[in-house]
Amino acid sequence: MSGANMLRVEEAIARITSLIQPVEGFEQLALRSALGRVLAADITSPIDVPAYVNSAMDGYAVRADDLTESGETRLTVIGTALAGQPFAGEVGAGDAVRIMTGAKLPAGADTVIMQEKTRREGDSVLIEGGQKKGQNVRHAGEDMARGEVVLTRGTRIDPAEIGLLASLGIPEVQVFRRLRVAFFSTGDELRSLGEPLGDGELYDSNRYTLHGMLSRLGADPIDMGVVRDRPDAIRAAFEQAAATADVLITSGGVSVGEADYVKQTLDTLGQVDFWKVAMKPGKPLACGQLGRCLFFGLPGNPVSAMATFYQIVQPGLRRMAGETGNQPLRFTVPCAGNLKKRPGRADFQRGILEQGPNGLVVRSTGSQGSHVLSSMSRANCFIVLPAESGDVESGTPVEVMPFAGLV
Ligand code: AMP
Ligand code: MG
Repeated sequence: MSGANMLRVEEAIARITSLIQPVEGFEQLALRSALGRVLAADITSPIDVPAYVNSAMDGYAVRADDLTESGETRLTVIGTALAGQPFAGEVGAGDAVRIMTGAKLPAGADTVIMQEKTRREGDSVLIEGGQKKGQNVRHAGEDMARGEVVLTRGTRIDPAEIGLLASLGIPEVQVFRRLRVAFFSTGDELRSLGEPLGDGELYDSNRYTLHGMLSRLGADPIDMGVVRDRPDAIRAAFEQAAATADVLITSGGVSVGEADYVKQTLDTLGQVDFWKVAMKPGKPLACGQLGRCLFFGLPGNPVSAMATFYQIVQPGLRRMAGETGNQPLRFTVPCAGNLKKRPGRADFQRGILEQGPNGLVVRSTGSQGSHVLSSMSRANCFIVLPAESGDVESGTPVEVMPFAGLV
């Protein structure tokens, strides 16, 4: 099929996005349990962080006006301020207070001199010249100010967000409910784990990769097993999923020929299109709606199933889960070694980003067959070659998309 009749990857993503609204359904969760979930409401800071002016160093809290520009200054040490044990008095002219990192800056002081710039002589401290007013002081609200929106609805809660929310004293958050994502594999040749392999049979791996990627995305995966290539079995599985899940993902059975009867079954249940997406691995992809359930039919080859899930399904699921503004990281690095590529479809080759003698480079994992699942395991990124590109010579800059924890 010529490139002109195929759907470009961006177009496929845009069509899917237009079908999708974020789920309406929320949960109130204890902070730790919210890891990997998506915030359903903006978070406004109830306090200043830091809550009080404090020291960024171990040293001495002083008044900058007491310091001489160039020479040494002698001040009298009148007390100590520790983190959690503020100095109760005030720093007057000629005074200094010994202070530790994180301790509240005593009244009267405006500057902290790091210990290494000082010398102690009994009750006095001698301070080197060249200090700057206000140095080594952390201001209240410098990180986050009270009343400021610090996280917006649609933000995914990763460990940094968990810590940030904890620093605000927020014990619970409202998140979007998990997506219920059902999935099954089709194919008479597939066996499940624990079953012996007969002649011409293979183990079903797509259900395992899908389960893993869906879990990493924070969805609730519903494994429906292997469904035999029989119209009544497929139909029953589609009906069951459509009744219970937000999304159904199948793999296999969407290539030419096979698709015909899957298509017949789907036509009676909903609105599903069969696309030829201009990507490799991939190409055949079914997408549509079975009642209120969103449906994706992925190709059966294990690398194609992962690549189409990653590139095309993932953005849709993120949007449906309420997430906004997730932009996958893409950047350009020189390619170490030649890459084979036929013009026509965008290639998502499996690559290994690594440090070369002159900086970051990417090299191919080797065989790019859509059945070579070990290529996904060895890779840490996709090498994205645009549809019109041909072979790539070693040293040419190519675009990469790091797997970023999902694969
Ligand atoms: P299909 O898309 O059904 O024509 O399948 C294409 C290729 O992928 C065939 O070689 C299948 O045996 C293989 N395949 C299909 N589904 C799976 C699966 N769930 N796990 C591993 N391989 C599969
Ligand atoms: Mg099949």
